[in-house]
Parts: sequence; C-alpha cells; structure tokens
Amino acid sequence: MRIEREIKLDFEDVLIRPKRSTLYSRKLVDLTRTFKFKFSQTSWTGIPIIAANMDTIGTFEMAEVLSKNQMLTAIHKFYDTGDWINALKSGVNSEYISITAGIDSLLQIKDLIEHLTKNKQKIPKFICLDVANGYTEKFLDTVKAVRETFTNPIIAGNVVTGEMTEALILAGADIVKVGIGPGSVCTTRIVTGVGYPQLSAILECSDAAHGLGGHVISDGGCKYPGDISKAFGAGADFVMLGGMFAGHLESGGELFEKDGIKYKRFYGMSSDTAMERHYGEIESYRASEGKTVTVPYKGKVENTLRHILGGLRSAATYVGARTIKEIPKCTTFILKSRK
Ligand code: 5GP
Repeated sequence: MRIEREIKLDFEDVLIRPKRSTLYSRKLVDLTRTFKFKFSQTSWTGIPIIAANMDTIGTFEMAEVLSKNQMLTAIHKFYDTGDWINALKSGVNSEYISITAGIDSLLQIKDLIEHLTKNKQKIPKFICLDVANGYTEKFLDTVKAVRETFTNPIIAGNVVTGEMTEALILAGADIVKVGIGPGSVCTTRIVTGVGYPQLSAILECSDAAHGLGGHVISDGGCKYPGDISKAFGAGADFVMLGGMFAGHLESGGELFEKDGIKYKRFYGMSSDTAMERHYGEIESYRASEGKTVTVPYKGKVENTLRHILGGLRSAATYVGARTIKEIPKCTTFILKSRK
C-alpha cells in the first residue's frame, strides 16, 4: 500500500484569478476551435462542449439543437439502426455527432456504419468508446482494433491518470475521456472508494495527452457554467456534460408533475433504473454505481446553452483569452477554503 500525499483538486477547490485584459467586450471572444487529430486525418471546427452519451442526454433531439450551435452530442448506444436512419434523414447533422459503443464495439460500429452507408447517410464524425473503467488490457485491445478499422477521430475512456492517458493514445485514441467518479448521478466513489478529483485529473491527463499530440475531454462534475471554464482552464480540450443538460425538453426521461411543478427523471448509466431498462435485470455479481434523481423541468435546452456560453465568454474576458484555446495559458487558479 502507498499513499500519494500531494493534494488533488476538484472544481470547487479553486477559482480563476482575473487578469488585466484588452478584451472590452464578450463579443470579442470566439468559442469555436478547429481541431486536427493525432491519428484521424480529418479536422473538426465547433464549440468543444459535448452532451454525454447517457440515454437521457445523448438523444437525437438534443443533437438537433446542439449541432445548430456547433456543439457535439455523443449519441447513446441504445438506438437501433432504424432510429439512426430516421434521425439522419430528418436532418441531424453528422458532423456534430458521435457513435458510442462499449468494450465489444467493433461489430456494433461496423454494423451501424454499413447500414448508414447502404442507406446513403453521412457517417457520424466521431467514434466514442466508453467504458466505466478504461484501465483494462481488453479495452486497449478494443481501441487498437477500432483504430485499425476506422479513420474517424476516436474518443476513448474513462481514465484519470497520465500513464493510462498515454496508453490509450498509443493504442490509437485521438481523444481521451477523463473522469472517474465526478458525475452528478455517479456513486462510484461511494460504492467502490475509487476516484480522482476532477480538476487534478484534467491537469495531469491533459499534460500527458498534449505531450503526445492527443486531446482530452473532461467528463463529469460540471454543475455550473463556471466549472466548464475551470475545466478548460485546467487544459481540457472538450467538456462533456450530463446533469447540466438533464431535465430539458430535448432530454430523455419521463416528464411528470407533482404539486403543480414539472419534473424529469435523470439517472446514471449504471444505476438500477438504466440496467433494468436496457438489460432487463441487474447481474448478481455487480453493484449499481449510479443513482436516479428527479430534476425540475427546464424547458428548451437552447436557454441553458445561452447561459453556458455567456458564462464561458465572460470567463474568457476576465482572463484575457480571445479563444477557448487560449484559456489555459491565461488561467491562474487560486486555492480557496471549502466552506
Ligand atoms: P455530470 O455532467 O452529470 O456530472 O457527469 C456525466 C458523466 O457521468 C457521464 O458522461 C459519465 O461519464 C458519468 N456517468 C453517467 N452515468 C453514470 C453512472 O451510473 N455511474 C458512474 N460511475 N458514472 C456515470
């Protein structure tokens, strides 16, 4: 047993120090960024915020709105090929979406791409390989196999340490998804004792990834727009959101009313609710690592987007960053006491 004594930080442990700046208006901040990837020969331009591949968040309805705002949606893996074809025909823009698959991914992705090609539909831009624990040899083999077969930018995760970020990139991932335990409906830290404070995870993983020409996504733990600024400040290239996109018209989950107030249900992808819904039962050897919550109904996600992007623009002007890419080099974090 070993103890690492360096203190690791969460979003709530820091604030961003304001700096003198020549930016006199938030209008001067450009939130779009163009990415070139380590392996995939394509490039992508957009606002690097991603709706999480959860079945209540990564919906086609969400993608329709987010894509109009040049943001990404990681479409959840429970749609069938018919759903995909309908969505693409009805105008969901493949440039701003990602396919999601788990550990035995290759066939699932091949099958979907073949179907879309046969139906003359554009192939989604990104492939997201998502597992709760990105530390297994089997997962590295999956990333290698998908890399050998497809030319799309590959997202792989989740991990929280530099050495595994490097391993995933060397296996063929263009972008590593970072976060174990910070999610709003995640109970991994409580159930298993495993996790890593998210701000430190981003700092360490982005350093490792950037050294190899890769990118990282900060996944989980953003409760407020300010947390998104902190994630970019720490070196995240993209930020993935679940809870902040929950409870909207475009989110999945049933809408119900109690005492005249509207709510939607939101649950973790390894919660009992999700497992019962998608697999019919909870396998006896596993414990649920997610919870189910009710969130007040928030209406159209467009309003939330405005709030998020406004916060981000404002943060950029406070530190003098003209673009999202400049935010980390303009960021100094200050430690604060937790109240
Ligand atoms: P949020 O933005 O809600 O804080 O975090 C979203 C992220 O939480 C997702 O992208 C995913 O990585 C993670 N997540 C979603 N469902 C679960 C779950 O049931 N258990 C765990 N451990 N993490 C989850």
